[in-house]
Amino acid sequence: MRAGVLDGATEAGAALRDGLRDDRVRRAERATRLTAKRVDTAMVALWRLQAFHHPDPKRTGSCTCGRTLPACGESRILEGVRQEMLDWERRNLDLLRAGERHGLPPEHPDVASGSPAR
Ligand SMILES: [Zn+2]
Repeated sequence: MRAGVLDGATEAGAALRDGLRDDRVRRAERATRLTAKRVDTAMVALWRLQAFHHPDPKRTGSCTCGRTLPACGESRILEGVRQEMLDWERRNLDLLRAGERHGLPPEHPDVASGSPAR
């Protein structure tokens, strides 16, 4: 490789440098998208689990599965990640409302109704 070919001193050098930068940006964007997809997959699993196991608003101290909260292993596991999952849900509801790609599952009430509640 000639000296100066990557420093943009020549038109070909500038094109090559831009090409390499574009390639790096594309790869970084692809990695970011893949990571976001993996987070979505994990969060959807947690969201589905918590649909069956969350504190029952009608029975203080009970899980919606019928067990007491301390007796529900699923609820105990979810407790530590619930806030993060709810934050993820809120961010994805914002994306849904903006008409952008989101990671919410098809059975999510706001996705299923086709008209997200505000
Ligand atoms: Zn439960």
